[in-house]
Amino acid sequence: MISYGKQSIDKSDIKAVVDTLKSHWLTQGPKCEVFEEDLKNYFGASYACAVSNGTAALHLAGLALNWKKGDIVLTTPMSFLATSNCIIYTGAKPDFVDIDLVTHTIDPNLAEEKIKHYRKKGKNIKALIGVDFAGQPCDWKALRALANNYEFKLINDNCHALGAKYFDDKQYALKYADIATQSYHPVKHITTGEGGSVLTNSLEIDEKVRRLRTHGMVKGENQLSINNEPWYYEMHDVGFNYRITDFQSALGSNQLKKLDFFLKRRREIARVYDDAFENIPNLIIPKVNDECVHAYHLYPLQINFDKTNLSKSQLFKKLKKFDINLQVHYIPIHLQPYYKKNYGFRIGEYPFAEKFYQREVSLPIYSGLSKKDQRKVIRSLKSLINV
Ligand SMILES: *Cc1c(COP(=O)(O)O)cnc(C)c1O
Repeated sequence: MISYGKQSIDKSDIKAVVDTLKSHWLTQGPKCEVFEEDLKNYFGASYACAVSNGTAALHLAGLALNWKKGDIVLTTPMSFLATSNCIIYTGAKPDFVDIDLVTHTIDPNLAEEKIKHYRKKGKNIKALIGVDFAGQPCDWKALRALANNYEFKLINDNCHALGAKYFDDKQYALKYADIATQSYHPVKHITTGEGGSVLTNSLEIDEKVRRLRTHGMVKGENQLSINNEPWYYEMHDVGFNYRITDFQSALGSNQLKKLDFFLKRRREIARVYDDAFENIPNLIIPKVNDECVHAYHLYPLQINFDKTNLSKSQLFKKLKKFDINLQVHYIPIHLQPYYKKNYGFRIGEYPFAEKFYQREVSLPIYSGLSKKDQRKVIRSLKSLINV
């Protein structure tokens, strides 16, 4: 079965994990510290805190920024559920801003409209979470200007865009956002099985994230209110167990060494799809902005199904018979029953995200995808949609 995404594990990954399994530490320990150093160096962050998954990273980011009941946090409807669920975890209210129809990332102009709308009612938004959808950075310059102007915090949910470039800079995320979060789920650029991280340049944010990763406990001499016994610890906030294990961290460090190679492969695969599908009526290939180098977590092809001889559902079923498993990224979050029921979101409210959802299919893209398999995907798709 050819699926839309898949991990790439080699002997060196297996050795890194097995070596750690034979060592003294299994849970968060010295390999986790090494992984955090590696993340800091690659992504240009002053601080990195590795955690159990990308959703935990988002949750801790919101808590570190003190989101609570009564706060409003904006994000895009075109993302995975976790991006906006993390707002709900903190008690804050999620609200959405539609995407730009060409880049599929949050539209800064529409964001400003929404911020002004809240201001008229005497409310300020607390934060905005941008998602570098599919691997293409948002318009971070414009988002940073808004954040400065209207005094809110910026999070880059960077899960799709490890190694992307913005104005020729791979370390762009924290040049604009206060916090960047990542996921190392097997379909992402690098994997630790499950895993994630919170990257920031703020010591205060990092300290809070670290505390909350382990139950809100502190042990450091200068963090305690009294200091008596060697076993003594204190809890200042309610935290969680969001730790990552040392064998996962060892895998993460080894995978990170190969990220540039993985990116090269993903970009080669994207180029082949671009060549196969550009200039074909009713198909739209992903457009890459001049200031961006795409990281291609996804290859979102748009098909105008109004003009094709089969529906999206038929296309999926037929491709499955050829052992090709496509996906759709994403069902707009505001259309989920929970969001409609609890926040009153309606169909038609974010028309660009909804239109994109109707057209989008995510084609297989991962470093281990063979040329033969990619040719099969292209051939099958072309024959089914009659081009
Ligand atoms: C994968 C992903 C997440 C969640 O990460 P997990 O590690 O699966 O918890 C959040 N946001 C986006 C945009 C993602 O792609």
